[in-house]
Amino acid sequence: MTANPCLTCGACCAHYRVSFYWAEADDATPGGVPASLTEQLTPFRRVMKGTNCPTPHCTALEGRVGEAVSCSIYARRPQVCREIMPSYWDGVTPSDKCDNARATRGMALLRPEDWHDREPDPDVPPLAA
Ligand code: SF4
Ligand code: SF4
Repeated sequence: MTANPCLTCGACCAHYRVSFYWAEADDATPGGVPASLTEQLTPFRRVMKGTNCPTPHCTALEGRVGEAVSCSIYARRPQVCREIMPSYWDGVTPSDKCDNARATRGMALLRPEDWHDREPDPDVPPLAA
């Protein structure tokens, strides 16, 4: 059995600016993204702290990129995070966002076989709903 590749990656959480509609945060939507971990970006958009800069690293990302990582607000992460799909998580579909984030760090791009024999996991894919 192999582990979910995202759990030893985290590159996309340390590559992109993570912005979203302000009302996804928990001061507008109970159970939403913790507002304390966000900054105002525009009158209508917020951004995850740590990601609105030239070298992003989301404040909610725990662990070390490329080794072992987790999202400390996994169940409450913004929709934009749920929409990033790891390449070939379904065996057939590549993901430019995943590939770009990994390539920037010199990490090998995911292949369909990286998902073979993966342990059963209710959070598949981990960064998507
Ligand atoms: S909120 Fe979680 S999934 Fe989204 S960028 Fe931050 S650590 Fe990654
Ligand atoms: S979606 Fe891709 S870049 Fe993001 S954590 Fe998973 S494998 Fe890494």
